[in-house]
Amino acid sequence: MAYKFIDNYREKGARKRLVEVLKKKGIEDEQVLQAIGKVPRHYFFDETFWVQAYKDIAFPIGEGQTISQPYTVAYQSELLHIHKGQKVLEIGTGCGYQTCILMELGAEVYTIERQEKLYERTIQVLPYMGYRPHFFLGDGSKGIEAHAPYDKIIVTAGAPTVPDVLLRQLNIGGLLVIPVGNEQEQKMVTILKVGENDYEKVVLDTFRFVPLVGDKAW
Ligand code: SAM
Repeated sequence: MAYKFIDNYREKGARKRLVEVLKKKGIEDEQVLQAIGKVPRHYFFDETFWVQAYKDIAFPIGEGQTISQPYTVAYQSELLHIHKGQKVLEIGTGCGYQTCILMELGAEVYTIERQEKLYERTIQVLPYMGYRPHFFLGDGSKGIEAHAPYDKIIVTAGAPTVPDVLLRQLNIGGLLVIPVGNEQEQKMVTILKVGENDYEKVVLDTFRFVPLVGDKAW
């Protein structure tokens, strides 16, 4: 597979402007902003659409899926409060942009995607860019039991309810960030595991994600 990855002053400048846009929209975490400023989002776009890459919009990536809006990626990343070396499960790899941001924040990332074509593309593109998470193909609505427990779990597709199985795969002190709602809109929910069967839930802003499809989802 031949890739043409060029990151010159035009793309770098556009990335800096995107960081300023996200700051204005309320993203404050300096490390998250630095990560957004570093990861070349245009590498996930066909060259014809590079001009779209640094607009704060979601964009189609094939298979009826999207690369998430930068604001959404920054928002979920900020909520996760990642510390270097933490073990993070990401459900919904898609093109892998969020994965790169998590890795820039120092996470060891386990990422799972259910669409084979996206998975096949991402397992080639990310290592080419220098990112080497643990990739999995399958239904992430059940988590990945074999590698649990995790310090953090992020779900990047909209779920009808919070799958209990994901809560079981968190460490005590661990955090789940998941959009929950109907197919039209979801509330961002954070759930902190404070004891073996004890959780603190916070319901935040409204977003619109593609659906989480699977055994414990739609
Ligand atoms: N994280 C991506 C990014 O950085 O732009 C965006 C992901 S996209 C909004 C949501 C992804 O979740 C899609 O690629 C979709 O195929 C995937 N997905 C949906 N249900 C899933 C499931 N049960 N397990 C794994 N992936 C799933």
